[in-house]
Amino acid sequence: MAEFCALVLHEEGGKVVPRLESLDEARLPPGEVTVAVEYSTLNYKDGMILEGQGRLVRAYPHVPGVDFAGTVLASDSPEFRPGDPVILTGWRVGEVQWGGYAERARVPASFLVRRPAGLTARQAMAIGTAGFTAMLAVMALEKHGLAPDTGPGANDVLVTGAAGGVGSIAVSLLSALGYRVAASTGRPELRAYLEGLGAAELIDRAALAAKPGRPLDRERWAGAIDAVGGMTLATVLTQLKYRASVAACGLAGGSDLPATVIPFLLRGVNLLGIDSVMCPRDERIEAWGRLARDLPLARLEAMTQTVPLAEVPALAPRILKGEVRGRIVIDLAA
Ligand code: NDP
Repeated sequence: MAEFCALVLHEEGGKVVPRLESLDEARLPPGEVTVAVEYSTLNYKDGMILEGQGRLVRAYPHVPGVDFAGTVLASDSPEFRPGDPVILTGWRVGEVQWGGYAERARVPASFLVRRPAGLTARQAMAIGTAGFTAMLAVMALEKHGLAPDTGPGANDVLVTGAAGGVGSIAVSLLSALGYRVAASTGRPELRAYLEGLGAAELIDRAALAAKPGRPLDRERWAGAIDAVGGMTLATVLTQLKYRASVAACGLAGGSDLPATVIPFLLRGVNLLGIDSVMCPRDERIEAWGRLARDLPLARLEAMTQTVPLAEVPALAPRILKGEVRGRIVIDLAA
């Protein structure tokens, strides 16, 4: 049996301990398709799993990594053949079953999406769950009426947690689609970075994190993508234009929602929930097609750093503290 390298998490003395190990392919979980993983990525949830937070992993030893991109090695499914380029995000891979921080992965065929021709495996992982989520958020806003417009302020869209993974891709996508993007960040030193991705305006995240003084504020946003939650999301609801929507995708600032129903009742605003993990496959295929078409690849490159697997454990606490800028790709061959 072939051996492959993996980052394996062990539970020792109540702590999660990562180790790079060589594993036998026979230890891979059951599944129809075996993939030679080329790249993976570090998402916020990977940070939680590596740090043993949130009881996301129930059984150790465990191979984490909620995303991977690679090439099919063997397949029992008529849908995939050896050599096919594939992407996996979500489906709780890397949580309840072994994931992408390994040179080999095995999953059901229904979990995989064929990698679009316009994206390399590395670019697909620069996007990863974070970018896929940003695309789902854009698609949800569009389904609820967001479209580039010419009226005064009609193009103003807000992105919170803008310098993080979801935020950076949301800023790039929305500006490429023709919106005027306001980027809310707690890192004003990243102005040049965010402007390079297409942000037209920076908003101090503290301004959105303060309790709104009244249930309705000035109508500012034709749409919003929120990666922060908590008071920030509550404030965004008070600032949406009549019938506009906010796509809620994250909780980097808190999981509560201290809001009133007034913006729903008096402005007909919409709060759209975004889930990338169990998202149906047809929507996944649509989202990856859109990413290949709409995301400027030079901007994707500008927000991405690539690291070897051995460096990932040290980055996990940093992504949880909001210290990572943009996206981190993990090169399994490095
Ligand atoms: P990152 O850590 O890359 O980005 C999060 C950003 O949020 C930070 O960069 C920072 O942006 C901001 N932030 C961090 N802490 C705080 C705080 N205390 N208060 C206000 N803002 C804060 O994570 P991701 O972009 O990968 O993920 C963002 C969120 O989205 C996470 O909560 C994650 O769990 C969630 N998520 C949800 C998915 C879904 O399917 N719904 C899928 C993927 C992610 P800045 O420095 O610009 O202020």
